[in-house]
Amino acid sequence: MGRVTGTSLITINMLSTSTQHLSDSGLSDRFHKRSLEHQRPLSTVTMAFTVVAFLCFVGARNLVGGATVPLAYRLSCALILGLLVLAIPRARSTWLFGAIGVAYSLVLVAGLALNIVGVSQPLLWIVPALVVVPICAAPLWLTPAHFFTGSVFFYAAALALLFDVPLGHDADIVVWMWVVAIGMPTSAVFHFGFYRFRRHHFLLESQLAQLAATDPLTGLQNRRAFVKQAERRLATLSAEAPVSAIFLDIDNFKSLNDRFGHAVGDHALYEVAQVLMDETAATDSVSRIGGEEFAVLLDSGLAGALELAERLREAIAVLERPDGHLTASFGVAEHRRGENIMVLLDRADEALLRAKHSGRNRVCAERALTSESLQLLADDVCADGEVVKRRHRWEEYFLTSHFQPLYSLSHQKQVGFEALLRGEQDDGTLVPPVVLFAPRPSSDEGALDRASHAVHLGNASRALPDDAWLFLNILPATFIAEGYADQLAKIVRTVGLEPERVILEILESHGGSVDDMSRAAALYRQHGFLIAVDDFGAGQSNLDRLLRIRPDLVKLDGELIRATSHGTNQPILPKLVSLLHQAGMLVVVEGVETTEELILAVESNVDFAQGYLLGRPAAEIAPPESVHRRIDEAFDVIASGRAHQYALFESEVEPYRVALRLAADALLAGVGMDEAFAPLAGFERCISCFILDGSGRQVGSEVPGPAWSKDGASLHPVADPRDARWDHRPYFRNAVLLPGVAVACNPYLSLASGRPCIAVTLAVQFAAGRSVIGVELDWSAVGLPWPAGE
Ligand code: GH3
Ligand code: MG
Ligand code: MG
Repeated sequence: MGRVTGTSLITINMLSTSTQHLSDSGLSDRFHKRSLEHQRPLSTVTMAFTVVAFLCFVGARNLVGGATVPLAYRLSCALILGLLVLAIPRARSTWLFGAIGVAYSLVLVAGLALNIVGVSQPLLWIVPALVVVPICAAPLWLTPAHFFTGSVFFYAAALALLFDVPLGHDADIVVWMWVVAIGMPTSAVFHFGFYRFRRHHFLLESQLAQLAATDPLTGLQNRRAFVKQAERRLATLSAEAPVSAIFLDIDNFKSLNDRFGHAVGDHALYEVAQVLMDETAATDSVSRIGGEEFAVLLDSGLAGALELAERLREAIAVLERPDGHLTASFGVAEHRRGENIMVLLDRADEALLRAKHSGRNRVCAERALTSESLQLLADDVCADGEVVKRRHRWEEYFLTSHFQPLYSLSHQKQVGFEALLRGEQDDGTLVPPVVLFAPRPSSDEGALDRASHAVHLGNASRALPDDAWLFLNILPATFIAEGYADQLAKIVRTVGLEPERVILEILESHGGSVDDMSRAAALYRQHGFLIAVDDFGAGQSNLDRLLRIRPDLVKLDGELIRATSHGTNQPILPKLVSLLHQAGMLVVVEGVETTEELILAVESNVDFAQGYLLGRPAAEIAPPESVHRRIDEAFDVIASGRAHQYALFESEVEPYRVALRLAADALLAGVGMDEAFAPLAGFERCISCFILDGSGRQVGSEVPGPAWSKDGASLHPVADPRDARWDHRPYFRNAVLLPGVAVACNPYLSLASGRPCIAVTLAVQFAAGRSVIGVELDWSAVGLPWPAGE
C-alpha cells in the first residue's frame, strides 16, 4: 500500500474537484434554468405592474387635450403587453423568456410613442419611463446576452423616439444625461451585479447540495442521495427494463483499522471507491452506503450484475493492504416489478450475508426461489394450463429438461421418463453438467433443485404419455423441507399432472436424517407421489435407510450390474433383486449400456431398466424405437442360455453323482467310511465327504479331499463342522425330499474354506436310520458352470 492520505486531505481534494466542475457548460445551463424558475414570479409581477402603469399613463394622457392617437390603438398596446405577461409562466426555455422580454420592451416603447402624440411637452411624459424601465428590468434579464440584446433594442427604439422630439438646449442635456449617463450605466450595474450575485449563490447552493449528497472520504454518493436517486430511477422504470443491485462489504476491515490505524483503513476505503468508479459505467449509481459497505445500482439483469460483481471482486482482490490483499464479499439481486429500493437492497444484503458465511471474497446471487416465486416460476412455465416456456433463466444460464426413458423388462415397453436437468447458454449450446452443478460461490443447490422440479414438470406436461411416470430427482434436504410436499403437489397440479404419475427419486447425498426422511415420505405419499431411492449401493445407502423409508422403487447404482461376487465371476445382482423383492420394492437398474448388461438385468428379474442401450436422454420425449425387440432378444438369449447352462452344469456334476452313489452302495455293504469315500475324496475339487444323521448332525469325522487344505481364508471359529446341525441347509432338505437321488445344490460359501462351493448329497436308508451322505466341492474356479436360476 502506498501513500496514505488523511480524511481531510481527501475531503479538500473532493471539494476542489467539485469547484472545477462549476465552470462546466452543463452547470451554467442548469444555472440559467434555475434562474428562469427563480425570476419567473418576479418578472411576472414587475411586468404586470408595468402594464397597470401604462394604463395609468394612457388614462392621464386622456385628461390632457390635443389631438390624440385613437384610444383603441393605445389600448391594444396594453393588451399585447398583457398577453406577453401571460406568456411568461408558460415559457420553458430561457431564449423564449428573453424573447418575451425583448418584445415587451419594444411594445412598451411603441405604446409610449403613441401616447405622447399631440402633447406640448413630450419629454416630460417619457423621460422617466426611458430611465426607470431599463433600470427595473435589468436584474430580470436571465443572462448578459439577453440583457445586451434587450437593451440594444430598447435604446434603439427609445433614441429614435428622442431624436423625433424637438428639444430645448437645457432640456437636451438633461434628457441625454438621464438616459445615457444614468439609465444605461445603472441598468448595466444592476444587471451584472445581480447576475453575479445569483450565480455565486447558485454555485454555493450546488456545492452544498453536492456535499450533502457525497461521502467526503471517497467522493461517492452517500446513502441518502443513492436511495433518493434510486427511488427516482425505479419510479420511472419501464415494465421490462432490468435493474439490479450489488451490495458489497470489505472483508475483515476491522482488523485493518485495529492493526494499522484508521488512516490506513480510510485509504483502503478510498481505493475501493476508485475501483468501483473505474469499473462501473457512467449510468450506474455507486454509493458508499455506510462504514465499509458499498452499493451499485445498474441497468442490467441478474446475469449482467453477477458479471460486474465478479469483475469488481477481482479488481478489489489485487489491492494491497499491509498484511496481504483487500477482499470484499458481494450480494447481487435483480429488481422485481413494483419493489422499492429498500427491499431490493435487503435481498442483495441477504445474498451478501451468505457470501460472508460461505467464506468471504465471493459473489452470491439472491436466493432466487422462495416458495411464492417457485409457484410464480411454475406459472411462468405454464399459463392457463398451457406450457409456454421450455426453459427458465437461472443465473447465467437457462435451465431446461432432458428425458431418459425407463423400460419394463417383462412388458418390454416404456413405463416412464427420468427428467434430467440441463443448462443452456443464450444461443442454445448446452452447458456441461459439471459446470452447471459445480459448487460456485453464487450457487444455491437447494434452490436449483426446486427450480428444476418446476422446469421439468412444465416440460413433461407437454409430452409425457398418459401411461408413463415422470421420475424427478430430489435432494434429501429438499425432500424433508417444511411444506415442500404440499408445494410440489400444487405445482404438479398447476401444470396439469397428477402426483400419482410422479416418482420422486431421493438422491444419494448428505442431508436429512433417516427419521426425517421416513416422516417426509409419508407426507408425499398422502398426496399420491411414489417414492424411489436413487443409487442404492453407492455412497450413503444402507439397508436400514431403505427399510425405514420403504420406497416403492429402488434404483440400483449402475456399478452393481458389473459387480461380481467375491472369488468368482458370478454377478451379485440376482440375489440383490431377490432381496429387494422380498422387502416389497420394485427394482430399477440404471446405466444399462451393453447387451450383456441387459441380459443380466433380465436374468436377475429386475423390473425396470434404463441406460444408453435403451434410450439416451433427449430434449423431446420420443416414441420408443426398436427397444422392445432388443429386450425380447435378451429374453431369447437367456432362455437358450439357461438350457445351455443347465446342460453344462449337469455334465460337470455327473461324475460326482456317480461316485456318490457308489460310495452309498459301499457304505450299505458295510465298508468303512474312509474306504467307501476314497474314490470320491480323490477328486481334485473335493473339500470333504461327510455323513449327517437324521437330525443333520455329522456322524464321525469327515473325509478330507485335495481341496481341503487349499489356501484360503477358512472361517476358523466356525470351521469345524462337527459342532453344528445342517438339517436346515438346502442340500440336506433337497436330499431328504428325493431319497435315492443324488442332488446338487446351488453354490454357497464354505465355512471351512471361505470359498464358494456346492454340495452333492444323497439320502440313504441305513439299518440304524436315515442318513444323508454328501460331498462338498470347491466351486470357486473361474469358468465352472453355475446352475441357472435360483
Ligand atoms: P467482515 O469480513 O465480516 O465484514 O468483517 P469486518 O471486520 O469487515 O466487519 P465489521 O463490521 O466487524 O467492521 C467494520 C469496521 O469498519 C468497523 C469500523 O470501525 C470500520 N469503519 C467504519 N467506517 C469507517 C471509516 O470511515 N474509516 C475507517 N477507517 N474505518 C471505518
Ligand atoms: Mg466488512
Ligand atoms: Mg460491515
